[in-house]
Amino acid sequence: MHFSKLFAPTLKESPADAEVISHKLMVRAGMIRQVASGIYSILPLGLRVLRKVEQIIREEINQVGGQEVFLPSIQPAELWIESKRWDFYGKELLRFKDRHNREFCYGPTHEEVITDVVRKEIRSYRQLPVVFYQIQTKFRDEVRPRFGIMRGREFMMKDAYSFHVDEEDTQRTYHKMAKAYSNIFNRCGLKFKQVQADSGTIGGSFSHEFAVLADSGEDNIGFCELCGYASNVELAKSKPSPASTPQTQQQDLKEVETPGKKTVEEVASFLNIPAQHIVKTILFENENGLVAGLVRGDHEINLIKMKNLIGCESLHPAEEDVIAKHPELHCGYLGPIGLKIPIYVDHEVSVLHDFVTGANKPSAHFTGVQVERDLKIEKTGDLRTVMTDDPCPNCETGKYQVTRGIEVGHIFILGTKYSSAMKAVYIDQQGKENPMVMGCYGIGVGRTAAAAIEQNHDERGIVWPRNLAPFQVVIIPVNYSNDELKVVSDAIYERLQEMGIETLLDDRSDRLGGKLKDADLIGVPLQIIIGPKNLAAGQVEIKIRKTNESNLHPYPQVVEDIPDILKSL
Ligand code: ATP
Ligand code: MG
Repeated sequence: MHFSKLFAPTLKESPADAEVISHKLMVRAGMIRQVASGIYSILPLGLRVLRKVEQIIREEINQVGGQEVFLPSIQPAELWIESKRWDFYGKELLRFKDRHNREFCYGPTHEEVITDVVRKEIRSYRQLPVVFYQIQTKFRDEVRPRFGIMRGREFMMKDAYSFHVDEEDTQRTYHKMAKAYSNIFNRCGLKFKQVQADSGTIGGSFSHEFAVLADSGEDNIGFCELCGYASNVELAKSKPSPASTPQTQQQDLKEVETPGKKTVEEVASFLNIPAQHIVKTILFENENGLVAGLVRGDHEINLIKMKNLIGCESLHPAEEDVIAKHPELHCGYLGPIGLKIPIYVDHEVSVLHDFVTGANKPSAHFTGVQVERDLKIEKTGDLRTVMTDDPCPNCETGKYQVTRGIEVGHIFILGTKYSSAMKAVYIDQQGKENPMVMGCYGIGVGRTAAAAIEQNHDERGIVWPRNLAPFQVVIIPVNYSNDELKVVSDAIYERLQEMGIETLLDDRSDRLGGKLKDADLIGVPLQIIIGPKNLAAGQVEIKIRKTNESNLHPYPQVVEDIPDILKSL
């Protein structure tokens, strides 16, 4: 490709709303342009990269028996009503009506559609298992679209769905998929971790996320270097402290005045006690009303763990106006004693003695609280969010490290949630009808490319991992209108094309400085710089984008070495 013909509108400045480096650099490198909030046009350089990601995905998913399909992006409401997600999905689902007043949505995911296809065509255990996948545009009306195509509203996803006779067979495919995912992200040149993930309320199922480690990630990943345990902190297990020794003497429950002291820090310093001797009471709301969670003052409560411990459908922090309707609830002075709602307790609280809680009246706390004597508990369990240096729950001596991660992939055993609701059944060997067991597997194509930039960039621009680079080589003649330089540039270009190396020839009349800046910005791994003096000495300069190392090599011999140099990057 000649640079003069390439539509790559590069920019010196980043867009004002860009918060993360991948968003800034994708716009500056002329890869993407925003059309509306969370909705982007993908320009030629951007598309070349996305196609690379897609190709890697295709090869690896085909390898594990996936068959590519292309499902409609517009889906009829009836299917979503059948699966009971029409009401459940909320505002992320973009709904609209056609000219006949029939309701539709733009697919945020495709479980319903693929289950509909399969239930109509597959009847016998002999036809199972099957794995289908597609690479397609999804629409999710995200609350806060941001970070460019990393969290768009319209975005490209590879989604795969598998159908099986039983859970055991589903697990076999699940493990193969997990391996395929590792291959995909390795080939994309990413540093990632496969972490345990929340599987929501679908009983008996499990799920893993693939998280690219980067500070800009929206997820927190907890892992132990020693044993390899890794989990999204949403459900990373905490190691329970050993049971406390029985007390010889218990303090009495005592109410103390704490005017204006509402936060853990304020109460701790007022009473001159450490935060871990205070127990926080946090209110949530689920489908049945208010519930309370108790954690130690120096710990944070974890919403997902709380939801899983309760076993409820939905859970969110209680809204102020809901709390306001309960005159007996006083924010800042909440406590479990006398609270007439279900109380869930973190296991670190259950080993405490003589602690402090709010007294459920303004300006007062209790001291000397004892779990057994004073609290009425619904359930005790693991409710807190783990932190760096917490002990690993999986091995004897390891410790947690918590870092940020970008979720690029998610694999999931769905069980029979959709097949039962939508009657996707097969006849088994005994002639009996059973619901199919399903797995589903997603990868964000654009998010993967953006994550690669988050991990591979410097102050000059993108440093593409070799397999994702839009071009492998850029040839930069100092002056393309110089006949001799042009002849050599063209010759190198043609030879590299013959060798199947994607090459960009910067034939523009711009100054060398600008051409070098663009080459660095768009992140082509290898630059061949051709200048009159070097050429007179039979040499060309080869610069490696990643290391910024520049060396003179004999021309024309070096051209034949380019494939090997590329492989070594
Ligand atoms: P998130 O928690 O980030 O919203 P999710 O759990 O909703 O992700 P899935 O439904 O599992 O995501 O979708 C599969 C994959 O699609 C994700 O792993 C991610 O790579 C990608 N993805 C999800 N939402 C977006 C988005 N808004 N923009 C770009 N990619 C997305
Ligand atoms: Mg989401």
